[in-house]
Amino acid sequence: MIVKKQRGALCRNLLLKRGNDLERINMKTRIIGMMVIFLMIIFIHPMTSFETDFTFDDVSEKDWYYADVQKACESDFMEGFEDDTFRPEIRMTYAQIVKIASGLKQSYTEEKILIKEDDPHWYDGYVDYAREHDIIVKDYPWNAPATRADFAEILVNSLMDSTILPQNMIEKGMIPDVPADHEQASSIYKLYRAGVMTGSNAEGNFYPDKTIQRCEVAAVLTRIIDETVRKDITMVFAREPQESISRTASIREGVKIPVLLYHGVSNRVWGLDYLFVSPNNMRQQLQWLKDNGYETVFFSDLTHLSDYQKPILLTFDDGYDGNYTNLFPLLQEYNMKATIFVVSDEIGNEHRMDKYQLREMSDSGLVSIQSHTKSHVWLDTLNKQQLIKECQESRTTIGEITGELPYAISYPEGRHNALSDSVVKDYYSLGVLDRNGPWISNRKTRYQITRTIIPREFTIEQFVTAVKK
Ligand SMILES: [Zn+2]
Repeated sequence: MIVKKQRGALCRNLLLKRGNDLERINMKTRIIGMMVIFLMIIFIHPMTSFETDFTFDDVSEKDWYYADVQKACESDFMEGFEDDTFRPEIRMTYAQIVKIASGLKQSYTEEKILIKEDDPHWYDGYVDYAREHDIIVKDYPWNAPATRADFAEILVNSLMDSTILPQNMIEKGMIPDVPADHEQASSIYKLYRAGVMTGSNAEGNFYPDKTIQRCEVAAVLTRIIDETVRKDITMVFAREPQESISRTASIREGVKIPVLLYHGVSNRVWGLDYLFVSPNNMRQQLQWLKDNGYETVFFSDLTHLSDYQKPILLTFDDGYDGNYTNLFPLLQEYNMKATIFVVSDEIGNEHRMDKYQLREMSDSGLVSIQSHTKSHVWLDTLNKQQLIKECQESRTTIGEITGELPYAISYPEGRHNALSDSVVKDYYSLGVLDRNGPWISNRKTRYQITRTIIPREFTIEQFVTAVKK
């Protein structure tokens, strides 16, 4: 049995590696070390130049990964092949990845990795070490090429969070092929945010199921070792994002805008009847709006009100499932926009829409999903910490589902007070009440936008009167 410190493997230039090790020690030792190295170079390689470090036959200065391969090898975490090659294009196996991850972990812990001569496989010691340190929690096909997603997960598990601090603002859901609920989303997003991994194309795709090459791993390792070469990434959504509205966006003042308040759209009524408009009435009302030249808008459209002759907002509170089954087809048929205020804790519960329905509607461009708080609690009964939770968590949950952070909040039962207003302003650009509509646009009341409730029993005449009020 051999007990040895994992040296990840040996970079082709021992001298250079020694130099790196010594950098971690104090200056005095370092200077002595440098002298030793100098003497060693003189004695060991008297005939060669000082550029002994880096000569793989298959890695040239023209290759994008030249510096990465050099750095990764100097660091000990990777090595070349015996025949003076690095083989940059070769796919890395799970066993090789685990060896690298264990080496990274070991560089923090300064522990030893047990390599036993009688182990059946060369990688058994690394796998055991990785398992003990929760770098891996399951078995992989060790000799098969690792997927990029698994590589990301194993790598992140070997690192301390403090070494991959976020420097890029990338909300969950933004990487086109890594949705928020992807199994390895958390690791992949950490690496993107830290600028350690980036997309493989202009859209920022990650290709989680593809395999990973040695040169790519070298680049990732280099960015882990050297923070100065990490990448600044600006992610944009592959699809056209719905517009948002900032807290300070200017809104033309004095425009009277009907903001209609609905809840369910269903014949199947439960709880409070008046909250459920029948699909037939809904159709009749949309038809009337269309025939009378109304243009349905989102709250984000308030910034360019002059584009509309007769703007109107259709809003639906609580996130009932009839919004998907009955309202959404009507919106598609009439090509009309609606805003749905969902209670984030209720998403997927009985009578409520699930996240897939919300995402589908949001993706259609016809529906804007906004916040109706996390738990539908009265905001004027909460302390600051509770208010932060209601505002922040509902915002994040919705953002992860739709890929777009909500910018408006509807106060449950319209209740709010000075404290809730002050917290709401940290998270949202607009606040919405539940009565006293229409709203006359005004900068000062952007957190008290009034609405007009449309109850189940309304005839079309009553609806028209309410809209024209
Ligand atoms: Zn409500």
